[in-house]
Amino acid sequence: MKFASQHFAILGAGRSGLGAALLARQHGAAVTVFDEGDAVKTDKLEAEGFKAITGQAARDLVVKPGEFQQVIISPGLDEHWPLPKKFADAGAPLVGETEFAFNLTSTPMVAITGTNGKSTCTELIATLFNGCGMKSLPCGNHGMSLSEVVASGARYDVLALEISSFQLETIRNFRAKASLWLNFAPDHLDRYPNMEAYFAAKARIFENVRTDDVAIVRAGESVSSGKADRWTFSAYGDEAGYTYSAGKFHHLGQEIGQANGLKLRGKHNMENVLAALMTGRVFGLQYSSMLHAMESYEPPRHRCELVRTLRDREYINDSKATNLHALEACLKSQERPIVLIAGGKDKELDYTPLRAELNGQVRAMVLIGEIAGQLEQTFGDLLPCQRATDMADAVRLATEASQAGDAIILSPGTSSFDMYTGYAQRGDVFRDAVNNLK
Ligand code: ADP
Repeated sequence: MKFASQHFAILGAGRSGLGAALLARQHGAAVTVFDEGDAVKTDKLEAEGFKAITGQAARDLVVKPGEFQQVIISPGLDEHWPLPKKFADAGAPLVGETEFAFNLTSTPMVAITGTNGKSTCTELIATLFNGCGMKSLPCGNHGMSLSEVVASGARYDVLALEISSFQLETIRNFRAKASLWLNFAPDHLDRYPNMEAYFAAKARIFENVRTDDVAIVRAGESVSSGKADRWTFSAYGDEAGYTYSAGKFHHLGQEIGQANGLKLRGKHNMENVLAALMTGRVFGLQYSSMLHAMESYEPPRHRCELVRTLRDREYINDSKATNLHALEACLKSQERPIVLIAGGKDKELDYTPLRAELNGQVRAMVLIGEIAGQLEQTFGDLLPCQRATDMADAVRLATEASQAGDAIILSPGTSSFDMYTGYAQRGDVFRDAVNNLK
């Protein structure tokens, strides 16, 4: 028992915390879970027999030096928040949940990061491996936490691990056989002091890679991929090892397959497919088998999802576009004229670069949420902008502003927490409003 007679503190009572608690206990540690939230659900932890200290009791906590041998921190918490600091000040070493689980497994991993496309790519890669006879699971920042997977004892040939900047902040030895950098654009400025800090956290994905590992990086990205072999991809130009154009995938100019059997649409998704094909190559898989395996893959909900076609207008739910880069990718993937519903929480992002994309393609905008006024100021001189009181009103106004042959798209370009519990609820409300149209 690696951690016999040790006492571990687990910070955060979510899926990462639960996984870490299970894993620590399997290796012999006594465990207490802490979370400062007042409305935290601890039933699953308690059902597993863990002690959880939450809310005011966690805020009032005094940590004595030597009380805990290790502190495992969930990615939802910032190391500089008061609770983690109390443990650090008492001299207990802080370990990230991903790092903790990584050190307790020998299963090969593919690590996937990027501002956009992580979830799609993670699912796609797991689908590809499973379809090619290698047992895999999408996990990490997506679905089960890495700790839960390792604690489950299930055996996999390779794990498709989505890894966010928050998880990368606390790595020490973590590395993967293939590390994917899908793209980078401004985001999460509500958690990071500036873009450089967000970039630096993400760039740690390559910190421990070895010469026999592969870095799969979007062409033109300025990130250093350390010692790994660097393979590049692009669906927007030919300056890359792997490219996509006019329905075909190429490696060094040679056609390696076609996209016509796939259910994914848009160039941004073709970049996800390229990254997945390259990942499979790292593990020696054949292009034709990989493409065949990916044919079964359905695009996930809330990501450029076609909700309904009514009077020759396509209603598209891209509620997951929580930053400008995803919004731009969605616009680029459309061939129809667009009426765009955008807006939401103020994340201090600068929307002026979007002016160049809107011109010509977007007929009108309907604005929602906290930043509606800011967006109206930014785009009001370019095209008709209207402010909506809620989503049903936005769908109604957008329909009125549209013509037959248009796409009416919810692609907010920011997060939703000013009006909704998250992007999924925002997308569901949009879907209901669209389905209620007569
Ligand atoms: P993440 O997990 O990184 O948030 P998702 O796969 O959930 O990524 O997609 C988030 C948003 O980004 C969606 O609006 C989706 O349409 C868009 N998107 C997906 N892949 C890419 C890509 N490769 N480049 C740009 N945007 C993308």
